[in-house]
Amino acid sequence: MNKPIQVTPASLRRLALPSLDDEADKDARGRVLLVGGCAENPGGLLLAAEAAMRAGAGKLQLATTHAVSVAVAIAVPEARVFGHPGKPDSISPRAAQEIAERANRVNALLVGPGLVDEDAAARLARGILRELEHPAVVLDAGGLAALREDADAARHLDGRVVLTPHAGEMAQLLDMERDDVEADPEAAARTAVARFGTVVALKGPRTIIVGPEGTAYQYEGGGVGLATSGSGDVLGGIVAGLLARGAEPVTAAVWGVYLHGEAGNALARRTGAVGFLARELPAEVPAILHRMS
Ligand code: AMP
Ligand code: MG
Repeated sequence: MNKPIQVTPASLRRLALPSLDDEADKDARGRVLLVGGCAENPGGLLLAAEAAMRAGAGKLQLATTHAVSVAVAIAVPEARVFGHPGKPDSISPRAAQEIAERANRVNALLVGPGLVDEDAAARLARGILRELEHPAVVLDAGGLAALREDADAARHLDGRVVLTPHAGEMAQLLDMERDDVEADPEAAARTAVARFGTVVALKGPRTIIVGPEGTAYQYEGGGVGLATSGSGDVLGGIVAGLLARGAEPVTAAVWGVYLHGEAGNALARRTGAVGFLARELPAEVPAILHRMS
């Protein structure tokens, strides 16, 4: 088995992002739908939303629970926001059909940020996945729970799904100890790829990305300042934004991890190694993308 490829500007040049058409309208730039948020954590959805736009998606839609939909809409004036029935801390799994119908009209879907009721999130995400035909998908946080109950829930999407678990979420997904995931993250990521048929980005100080064809990448950077609330929500949003722009799933995952990490590096240089906020990461992304183009 080949050693993971280091994610560097040189290796990223071999994973080109789709070029932007100067004539494109916002639909052509890519439509993204993000599903998440609740009364306890509307912020996860807000962070992912800004990140998706900063990564270059053209049109943003958010699906959340009624309890917070107006607040979310005011916080993100760029978005169209759909409020669905549910308890304050969950979107009802009965909303899955309606969300999936909308998802089938966008280019990329993220399910999970700020879904704190895991049982409801698992049922909702499974229900959405079941009805999906078109979009590329990111499952993060609560959305990952769909695969705990049904390892095949994403198989029909033919590798167009990216999972972004941290070590604790990966341990739950694979029913193993967190220490064992951290002892050999590459092995855990490969096991998850085989079990779920998706792209996997196993996050941590060293993030491992593995695609269904088995090529592995690793990124060691970003710094300990990224170990902060909401950081992973930003990553999920960036990857979804890149998918909306038409990037292949492995390309979106590798670039997303790099952009998120370099955003952390940029903030660490300016403000110090720790103490910057997840909400400050998205605004760093356009300049990094510009530099790399
Ligand atoms: P989450 O735990 O979902 O909020 O995601 C945390 C994000 O921060 C992931 O992208 C991790 O790769 C990154 N991260 C966490 N700790 C570190 C660290 N010590 N060094 C670099 N990146 C980190
Ligand atoms: Mg997270």
